[in-house]
Amino acid sequence: NQENDNKSVAGISSIIPGWFSEISPMWPGEAHSLKVEKVLFQGKSDYQDVMVFQSSSYGKVLILDGVIQLTERDECAYQEMITHLPLCSITNPKKVLVIGGGDGGVLREVARHSSVEQIDICEIDKMVVDVSKDFFPEVAVGYDDPRVRLHIGDGVAFLKNAPEGTYDAVIVDSSDPIGPAQELFEKPFFQSVARALRPGGVVCTQAESIWLHMHIIEDIVANCREIFKGSVNYAWTTVPTYPSGVIGFMLCSTEGPAVDFKKPVNPIDADDSQSRPLKFYNSEIHSAAFCLPSFAKKVIESK
Ligand code: SAM
Repeated sequence: NQENDNKSVAGISSIIPGWFSEISPMWPGEAHSLKVEKVLFQGKSDYQDVMVFQSSSYGKVLILDGVIQLTERDECAYQEMITHLPLCSITNPKKVLVIGGGDGGVLREVARHSSVEQIDICEIDKMVVDVSKDFFPEVAVGYDDPRVRLHIGDGVAFLKNAPEGTYDAVIVDSSDPIGPAQELFEKPFFQSVARALRPGGVVCTQAESIWLHMHIIEDIVANCREIFKGSVNYAWTTVPTYPSGVIGFMLCSTEGPAVDFKKPVNPIDADDSQSRPLKFYNSEIHSAAFCLPSFAKKVIESK
């Protein structure tokens, strides 16, 4: 079909020669484009097509199956928010599990929390880890932390086998629900997350865009309200290179000590003396992230 023809070699669009256009049935009728300076890597793993290119305006860009995963310029907005929204909402997080997130950026952010003793990560695709280490050293630096234990495998199976009540926080840094990440958006997966969390433990999962995916968000919210007996909240942030320029997160806690996600109790505000200061997250933006536009608020609160 026409859309596939336009995708052409390596996802480099033939609509605008020399530009990458992000075409997907997940956002029909629109395609964000970035000017390509140079393609740096192209590969096919057992799970997906992997590409890295140098863009002219956002630094290096990681693409999986034709979809932008991160750019050097705006990855901070996503990685800092998906990590610190949950970890700053509880005191003393010690054991953290990351599902997906093979680029290592969430690990880099979790490692800022000195109370954390163990950081497990389960990423399905080793090629993402290797490519990130080769091309995105400022992101993959997360792997250098001695608390990190990398497991290559399916996050769904990993969580099914995880001992009950283990983790203070689970962060699901997944790709979109087409391809290997599909099950990470389904009810049985959320049930195993809840099982693996300690009472009053928290989960934060990538939960798509309020502009494009309200139908997906509605399902996630409905499932989470059934499963998580503590609190259930939706938050969002801006990431210019994600479709529609925004991305959301589902934040839930299990029954136990109450968690009020809107009021961070474990602040980690920017400290310029750090070797890598925070670029995006602060306590004010934490609370603001839970304020929703009226159209989204109406749907999410009705679930
Ligand atoms: N931080 C960026 C973002 O959210 O757009 C990057 C996303 S991260 C690279 C998504 C990762 O989830 C990918 O590396 C992908 O291989 C991994 N993934 C997808 N399905 C998975 C599964 N079932 N189990 C574990 N990891 C999975």
